[in-house]
Amino acid sequence: MKIWAIVKSCQFRGVHHYPEGAKLTNEIAQTIQHPHTHIFHVEVRIAQDHSNRDVEYLSLENDIEYYIGELKKVLKGNPSMSCEHMGEYFYNKLKKIGAYKNKDIIIDVLEDGKMGTSLGDY
Ligand SMILES: [Zn+2]
Repeated sequence: MKIWAIVKSCQFRGVHHYPEGAKLTNEIAQTIQHPHTHIFHVEVRIAQDHSNRDVEYLSLENDIEYYIGELKKVLKGNPSMSCEHMGEYFYNKLKKIGAYKNKDIIIDVLEDGKMGTSLGDY
């Protein structure tokens, strides 16, 4: 059995686009080639080593909020970041924090809370 610490519903407004969208055949999907706004939802799970909460929820939430602030700056300079890029960003940043370094991490980044990516140590 695995036990996970979960922080859900961290959100931020961001503008991005997908230049390759021009190649898509679906007319609606082609619109993503142009800059558009989402409320991105970030959900993070980190494996606990035991049931006495070695990953503290509030600390994890603070870490995610900090990296959301940093990501917003990165996204302004590189608006073609996808949800997958953002998920990798959070994964790599959190893996460098001592408390999470050797733990399994799963990151979900969803556009408007509906669709997006899930990546990490499955
Ligand atoms: Zn989008």
